[in-house]
Amino acid sequence: MEAEPTSGRSPAARDDPPRPAERDVAALPKAHLHLHFTGSMRHSTLVELADRHGVHLPDALVEDWPPRLRATDERGWFRFQRLYDIARSVLVTPDDLRRLLRETAQDEAAEGSRWLEIQVDPSGYAARFGGLTPTVELVLDAAREAGAAAGVGIGIVVAANRTRHPLDAKTLARLAVRYTDQGVVGFGLSNDERRGRAYDFEGAFRIARRGGLLSVPHGGELLGPASVRECVETLGADRLGHGVRAVEDPALLRSVIERGVALEVCPASNVSLGVAPTVADVPLRALYEAGARIALGADDPLLFGSRLARQYSLARTEHGFTDAELAELARHSILASAAPESLKKEVLEGIQAWLE
Ligand SMILES: [Zn+2]
Repeated sequence: MEAEPTSGRSPAARDDPPRPAERDVAALPKAHLHLHFTGSMRHSTLVELADRHGVHLPDALVEDWPPRLRATDERGWFRFQRLYDIARSVLVTPDDLRRLLRETAQDEAAEGSRWLEIQVDPSGYAARFGGLTPTVELVLDAAREAGAAAGVGIGIVVAANRTRHPLDAKTLARLAVRYTDQGVVGFGLSNDERRGRAYDFEGAFRIARRGGLLSVPHGGELLGPASVRECVETLGADRLGHGVRAVEDPALLRSVIERGVALEVCPASNVSLGVAPTVADVPLRALYEAGARIALGADDPLLFGSRLARQYSLARTEHGFTDAELAELARHSILASAAPESLKKEVLEGIQAWLE
């Protein structure tokens, strides 16, 4: 069903019962399960830190921000990755990293996010912060501080880069499981899905899962069902980063749903990277109707120009999600998270209160 426009209602709608005022999606308690570290930075902070550290930013990250991207071909992905790397290079000191997490936690709180799982590939920062282990410890400490100040629970997902060697991923998995009692909650696999098969990372994910981490690889974004199947069957995915292309294979989608694998659907990201031509083309409604567990995510607000609450309003305006359905998405998000049980209960009650 199409959403009823909020303005310019046609005369034919006059006989319909009056529509209740729409609730504020930013006030809906929820969890945010798909957000990358540098990608969560405020644009104003990027510009300020670049200036401070003498990093030259391309126009796409200054006056032409947010950049126009398209990753469905290799060149487009290369450009996206290059901009991401430039943005990462403005994080020079431990204080920069703490500031990023502090502001991200504030922004999450302002959008109703009560629990955030933020992904970081520590190897992208290790050279600057004294190696892999000190980087992970710095991130964990900064996350604890930022979360406590903003009133947002923060879990860290250590993500391996699928374009690097699977042995590097194993090293990261071993490192990640050492910090399960200090805030690492999951193990991910990011970067270009076309350039690194999930299959090759089975060993790393086995280490992570045995160590008690959630398996949360990216899959079903730039590639279709075969990639989704590998993530689910080989990596034992608890959730899929994106996973939207599972919709292309109904039998696979059924198995994803039966296994309780949640999909971290990021509508604005899908459009920015050309996975879908428009938000209306993201198969959010189809996945929801099929019974998939869906946690909406912003992916990289710094590069795609919108944060978490916007994804919920897009579900409303582009896919006709009612407030009750938006509340259901928020429930999915917290239930698919690694949040402590007490927080899950609190958030579920908050969601109910938002509806009533
Ligand atoms: Zn992502």
